[in-house]
Amino acid sequence: MAILNIRIIGDPVLRTVADPVTEFGPELEKLVADMLETMEDVEGAGLAAPQVGISQRVFTYRIRGVEGHIINPVLDNSEDFQPDEVEGCLSIPGLGFPVRRFRHTRVTGVDVHGNPVELEGEGMLARVFQHETDHLDGILFTDRLEGEDRKAALRAIRNANYDSITEQTTSKRAKTVGSSFGAGASFGSAQ
Ligand code: ZN
Repeated sequence: MAILNIRIIGDPVLRTVADPVTEFGPELEKLVADMLETMEDVEGAGLAAPQVGISQRVFTYRIRGVEGHIINPVLDNSEDFQPDEVEGCLSIPGLGFPVRRFRHTRVTGVDVHGNPVELEGEGMLARVFQHETDHLDGILFTDRLEGEDRKAALRAIRNANYDSITEQTTSKRAKTVGSSFGAGASFGSAQ
């Protein structure tokens, strides 16, 4: 297994609609294993394949000890919303804003062997499912902000020196993300 390099905002792969997975086998198994290891390494709550430069519909998640992956996910969201919570994103280091998400989410897809999977969650789990599936459609959480938060986020992204951040090691980046989302922002950390 290997720790993968996490792509940072500005990388076109994050803005590309990912392809459905059609080939199941050792390569896909390695991708999922590496994504799980990378997510654990940076203490992320979720990781989508485009974030490691692979434009395929795969994400992993890790919320309060519940860890897993899903391939070709399709979401079925409740009509009502949950209270806004601050989200962060491993691909937008140092930024955290409250995001509106549906209260409950059912996810259907397949596992790494192609067997049908159905996941269901509320609260933080539903939030991660929605955040990670957005990544597969080239959507970042900052796209879901409105008003002053949106302006502040875009300004911060414009002013951030992400080029130099990209050159940092993964572990250094993990530290940055961890400290940014340590207080009050539970999304960036699985703790
Ligand atoms: Zn993200």
